[in-house]
Amino acid sequence: MPLDHPDFHRISNATAQGPASNPALVEKVAALNIALRHHSATDVLRAAIGEVPNLALVSSFGAESVALLHLASMVERDLPVLFIDTEMLFTETLVYQHELTERLGLRNITILRAADIVARDPDGTLYQTDPDACCALRKTGPLNAALSGFDGWITGRKRFQSGIRSALEFFEVEAGTDTAPARIKVNPLAFWNAGDVNEYITENRLPRHPLVARGFPSIGCAPCTSPVTSGEDPRAGRWRDRIKDECGIHFANGEMVRTGAKI
Ligand code: SF4
Repeated sequence: MPLDHPDFHRISNATAQGPASNPALVEKVAALNIALRHHSATDVLRAAIGEVPNLALVSSFGAESVALLHLASMVERDLPVLFIDTEMLFTETLVYQHELTERLGLRNITILRAADIVARDPDGTLYQTDPDACCALRKTGPLNAALSGFDGWITGRKRFQSGIRSALEFFEVEAGTDTAPARIKVNPLAFWNAGDVNEYITENRLPRHPLVARGFPSIGCAPCTSPVTSGEDPRAGRWRDRIKDECGIHFANGEMVRTGAKI
């Protein structure tokens, strides 16, 4: 696609996240978005696996994760899947992660844990005093380190989840830094809404996270997640009564960015 193509500018402006973006990567992402514009999540996954040589899927094994994990298992069971164990998760999440991995036949799961939790959060109360630092220690740091070995990663983000995601495309460029190259970020479910996710889980008879039935439509770490009541935003139980409203797991220029949504 020529650089003066109008679609190139529309899409690359929407997907490049900073000055360190790789122009060749931006062009590749723009071309993929155009080529797959009317295609399914499965088509996007297949294309991503074909086009991005070293790709990982990042999953929280949360309330909606099973949909993307099932799609991935149908396309490539050896796809690397990264799961961050913050050591603050619900026991139900740890059991669900194990059972779902078995059920879907996923063969390449890596569990990420921060190496320096004991030194930096010895009594496990950092989430109370500085939740941003706690997320950086337990989530962002381990994930960023793990992703340094990959050319791209697959997320479960969707347009309906928040304002900034309303322009989400299937493929994005995650800008690089002085020490890390730019990466491709793939969002196969970008155009799904909440009903699509529910329908997919129901029609494929997939097991839901057990906490969903107990009022947790969005599930993170145990100390920072509470059930929601009828009529509340599905994500209202994450960091309830705190200014913080997301974990900073998505990066721009190697730094965590506030996306206004939670994983
Ligand atoms: S969600 Fe809470 S406990 Fe988990 S890493 Fe973030 S601040 Fe820490």
